[in-house]
Amino acid sequence: MTDRLAQTDGLTDIQREILSTVRGFVDKEILPVATELEHRDEYPTQIVEGLKELGVFGLMIPEEYGGLGESLLTYALAVEEIARGWMSVSGIINTHFIVAYMLQQHGTQEQKDYFLPKMAAGDVRGAFSMSEPGLGSDVSAIRTKGVREGDAYVVNGQKMWLTNGGTSNLVAVLCRTDEGLPEDAPAHRSMTTFLIEKEPGFGPNPKVSGLTVPGKIEKMGYKGVDTTELILEDVRVPADRVLGGSTGKGFYQMMDGVEVGRVNVAARGCGVARRAFELGIAYAQQRHTFGKPIAEHQAVQFKLAEMATKVEAAHQMMVNAARKKDSGQRNDLEAGMAKYLAAEYCKEVVEDAFRIHGGYGFSKEYEIERLYREAPMLLIGEGTAEIQKMIIGRRLLEEYRIQG
Ligand SMILES: Cc1cc2nc3c(=O)[nH]c(=O)nc-3n(C[C@H](O)[C@H](O)[C@H](O)COP(=O)(O)OP(=O)(O)OC[C@H]3O[C@@H](n4cnc5c(N)ncnc54)[C@H](O)[C@@H]3O)c2cc1C
Repeated sequence: MTDRLAQTDGLTDIQREILSTVRGFVDKEILPVATELEHRDEYPTQIVEGLKELGVFGLMIPEEYGGLGESLLTYALAVEEIARGWMSVSGIINTHFIVAYMLQQHGTQEQKDYFLPKMAAGDVRGAFSMSEPGLGSDVSAIRTKGVREGDAYVVNGQKMWLTNGGTSNLVAVLCRTDEGLPEDAPAHRSMTTFLIEKEPGFGPNPKVSGLTVPGKIEKMGYKGVDTTELILEDVRVPADRVLGGSTGKGFYQMMDGVEVGRVNVAARGCGVARRAFELGIAYAQQRHTFGKPIAEHQAVQFKLAEMATKVEAAHQMMVNAARKKDSGQRNDLEAGMAKYLAAEYCKEVVEDAFRIHGGYGFSKEYEIERLYREAPMLLIGEGTAEIQKMIIGRRLLEEYRIQG
C-alpha cells in the first residue's frame, strides 16, 4: 500500500532513517501478533525487548546520558508508527517518556545521572501517577500526602489508573506536601513529585515497604499494557527522591510532562486512525455488493474521502504542536488542539472503517474490532476533550484579549 497520507515535510536524513526502521519493525514484529496478544491481554515482552534494542526508550534522552537525543517531533512520529501497529505498545513507551522528560527538565544533577542512562537503555521503565480514585481532571484535589520525618517523607494514599503500574520499576507520584505553607495557599503550590523505585510486579512490593500494586484493572481495550492502582501505606521516600530536590513544584512538573504527553496521545490517535483507514480502503475494494466493489458506491467512497481528510488534518496538527515545542516555544494551545482533534477524528475514522467492514467488523477475526475498542481511551487519557477545550479556550482569551 502506498504512503500518500500523513507525510511530514522537512525531515532530516536521520529522522527519516529512524522512522523507516521503526516502521519496518512495526510491520514485521508488531502487526502480525498485535491482535492475538491483545485478545489474550498479554504483555508484549518480545516487542519491548526489540524496541529496547532499537533505542526507542531513549529516543529523546540526551546523548550524554546514553540516549539518541532526538526531538519531540521524531519521538511523536515514531509513536504514530508504533500506534499504527498496536496502541498498547505506544502506551508502554509514553509514560516512560513523560517520566524521562520530567527528570531531564526538572531533576537534580544526581537524579539525572542516576536515572537517565538506565532509562535510555530501557532497564528502568517509568510510570506516571497523578490520578486517584476520586479525581482525574481535577488534579488540585489530590489527597495522597507526604509528611516529612527526618531525612524522608512518609507517604499515604491511593492512586489510580497507572499505565505500566505493574511493569515499571520507577513511578513518579504526585502528592500533597504542605511544608511551611500558609493554610490558604493555593492547592497547586503544595504539590510534590516523588520518585519511587520499586520492583516490577503485583501485590505488596518486596523492595518498598507499604507499597502495593493490587493487580491489573480489566479494560475494554488497550490491553496487553497493564493499568493499575497503587496503594501507599506509610511508604518512606528519601528526601533526595523529591523530583528537583525541593517540594511544592510537583504540579508544574507534571503539567510540563502532560503537555508533551499530549502531543504523544495525538500521535497515537494519528497512528490508529491511519491503520483504520488502511483497513477500510483495502476492505472496500475486496467486498462486492450489487455487482461491484463497495468502494465504487459513492456513499462508501465519500466515507473514504472523509476518513483520509481526517487522517491528514490530525497528522499536520500533531506535527505542528511537536515542532512548536521543539522550537522552544510554549505549545499548550497547539498540543491541546492536536490532542483534542486527533482523538475525536481517530474515533470517527475507526467507526467509519468499522461500518465499511459490515458484519465482519464485529468479528474478532478482523483487526478493526480491536481498533474499535482502543480508540475511546484516547478521548480520556492525558485529559478529556472538555479539559482540552478549557485549556484551548483560556489560551485563546489570553491571546485575543481586547483592550478596555
Ligand atoms: C486506560 C487509562 C490509562 C490511564 N493512565 C493514566 C496514567 O498513567 N497516569 C495517570 O495519572 N492517569 C491515568 N489515567 C487517568 C486519566 O488521566 C483520567 O481518567 C482522566 O484525566 C479523566 O479523569 P476521570 O476519569 O477522573 O474523569 P473526571 O475528571 O471525573 O471527569 C468525568 C467527566 O466530567 C468531565 N469534566 C470534568 N471536569 C469538567 C469541567 N470542569 N468542565 C466540563 N467537564 C468536566 C470530563 O471531561 C469527563 O467527561 C488513565 C486512564 C485510563 C482510562
